[in-house]
Amino acid sequence: VVEIGTPERSVITTCAYCGVGCSFKAELRGDELVRMVPHKDGKANRGHSCVKGRFAWGYATHKERILNPMIRDKITDPWREVSWDEALGFAANRMKGIIAEHGRQSVGVITSSRCTNEETYLVQKLTRAVFLNNNTDTCARVCHSPTGYGLGQTYGTSAGTQNFDSVEHSDVIMVIGANPSAAHPVFASRMKKRIRQGAKLIVVDPRRTETVEAAHANATHHLPLRPGTNVAVVTALAHVIVTEGLMNEAFIRERCDWDEFQDYAEFVSQPHHAPEAVESLTGVPAETVREAARLYATGGNGAIYYGLGVTEHSQGSTTVIGIANLAMLTGNIGRPGVGVNPLRGQNNVQGSCDMGSFPHELPGYRHVKNDDVRALFKGAWGVDIDNEPGLRIPNMLDAAVEGSFKGLYCQGEDILQSDPDTKHVAAGLAAMDCVIVHDLFLNETANYAHVFLPGSTFLEKNGTFTNAERRINLVRKVMAPKNGYEDWEVTQMLANAMGANWNYAHPSQIMDEIALLTPSFAGVNYDMLEAKNSVQWPCNEKAPEGTPTMHVDGFVRGKGKFIRTEYVATDEKTGPRFPLLLTTGRILSQYNVGAQTRRTANVVWHDQDVLEIHPHDAENRGIRDGDYVRLASRSGETTLRATITDKVSPGVVYTTFHHPDTQANVVTTDFSDWATNCPEYKVTAVQVSPSNGP
Ligand code: SF4
Repeated sequence: VVEIGTPERSVITTCAYCGVGCSFKAELRGDELVRMVPHKDGKANRGHSCVKGRFAWGYATHKERILNPMIRDKITDPWREVSWDEALGFAANRMKGIIAEHGRQSVGVITSSRCTNEETYLVQKLTRAVFLNNNTDTCARVCHSPTGYGLGQTYGTSAGTQNFDSVEHSDVIMVIGANPSAAHPVFASRMKKRIRQGAKLIVVDPRRTETVEAAHANATHHLPLRPGTNVAVVTALAHVIVTEGLMNEAFIRERCDWDEFQDYAEFVSQPHHAPEAVESLTGVPAETVREAARLYATGGNGAIYYGLGVTEHSQGSTTVIGIANLAMLTGNIGRPGVGVNPLRGQNNVQGSCDMGSFPHELPGYRHVKNDDVRALFKGAWGVDIDNEPGLRIPNMLDAAVEGSFKGLYCQGEDILQSDPDTKHVAAGLAAMDCVIVHDLFLNETANYAHVFLPGSTFLEKNGTFTNAERRINLVRKVMAPKNGYEDWEVTQMLANAMGANWNYAHPSQIMDEIALLTPSFAGVNYDMLEAKNSVQWPCNEKAPEGTPTMHVDGFVRGKGKFIRTEYVATDEKTGPRFPLLLTTGRILSQYNVGAQTRRTANVVWHDQDVLEIHPHDAENRGIRDGDYVRLASRSGETTLRATITDKVSPGVVYTTFHHPDTQANVVTTDFSDWATNCPEYKVTAVQVSPSNGP
């Protein structure tokens, strides 16, 4: 029991972990934060929170935070603490020198989905208006970039179609490649409440997840597919709906392109897409697929929620398209209780994508080749915008290894731990002449940095996050930044050190600029957000109160577009050397690479990553529960303890990547989504063998 005394005041702000975007009261005594209390008026959480958010403040005050800028000539030199002026001057001179010697395409940035909209907007502006290229990418590259592509192609915009309240009107909830009980707990509670009231649950996931188990009593349909076969399963679901005549033809005729539908219907009707034809490939009994398809098509309001188990595949974009097709086929779009909803892993994945962090899009998902849009930004920024898409994260690393990419500003992202194929990431970073890491802690990536700029936590800044339901929530400063500056100020200082003349005095001014240049944010400003508590975009003249449900009268692109979804096997194959398939995920108490949660009270719930392995596979290898095992793939190997469980099927193993000593991404490969380069974290051929330990 910890005695906290009586708090003297509180500040309402937004959780900086997952895409639910819970609202909290940060309670203080003097300047000391003593407690985080979930806020009852929070529209996403209504007074609830999970174990991550409640203890989030632990990392803000952790002793390992770096509070002073540091520089070094070479990555083998010791760090030298310097003033902000010296650090920014050093960084600016290096970046300018690289551009002068190697050209403007030789530098770029990686933004973080954990930073605010305003910070993210400024980082992409730094790239486009100061570096004069489009080499800006976001960590959404490695999670939800296929959502951007798939929903953009089919519906016309990359966003969840519903608000969280919508689930209260759902009769059938299909969860594909997501485990909200662990990764989005507060939303999962609302989902499970609806299931207790009678809604049916379909879960498509290789693991018997906590989401499956929590709702099992209520007629759950679990489709335990073999990792990498999402497209075959989603297309088989469509096959059943079309061939059994379960489509909503009136919806399709009115809202979708009929010719494209007919082509798609002919495609999915082919016998090789039938559940029986793909049963041995997917591992899902054909009758289970048929039951799930009938239930989704005829069971009332059908809603789909999906996560990284959909996107992080070589066919991630194809699966997103397949999911969008399912909703159009059944008319499950455009009203409460239905829709297609990507569950965003990080607090501001939606906002990061909205703010133009991708190398081909300016804020508001407008392509850099669009002359009118570039002219709009030129008018505001006073510089020509490059009309060629820039480099994605993996392209930056490839170019670095080849010698043409030399300088990187990496804000709030530990790419060495979070990105796949760690050896390749390290080689790319080591080949650069200037790596600027802007972060809270000396993370793994910082081992390859020349400049370290201390970052500020969500408790030390003003701004906005946009959650998974497109809700723009205010982030309010609870305490002064321990490092001296909010992150947007650091980016502004770096831009000005490189010759810009930015004069933002407060993030609200940045939001005003975003609103001026981005039609879906045209009605957003801080006064309005204070008055309304929060708002879902689009928020503009047409929708001054925001937009709880999208595509009500028509799709953003006009007619909904059906696209064929042919299954193509990943190049990552099992074989005699690597006979098992590894898939990865998260647990409730930890968040991503754990840089934050490992520095909070949450560490007591999870102090190491473990490998889940089926009893048959363990027995065949002489592995007992709790033994150390060697996990090896074509990319590399690591050592961790085994947990024997039938949550995973024979032939499949599973682990998390929360701890740097495990470095699970040492074993993941560099295969990626065909459309977006999102890494294929979810499918790695591996061998597991007994080990004496690390
Ligand atoms: Fe809410 Fe997600 Fe934060 Fe948990 S981690 S408190 S569910 S926003």
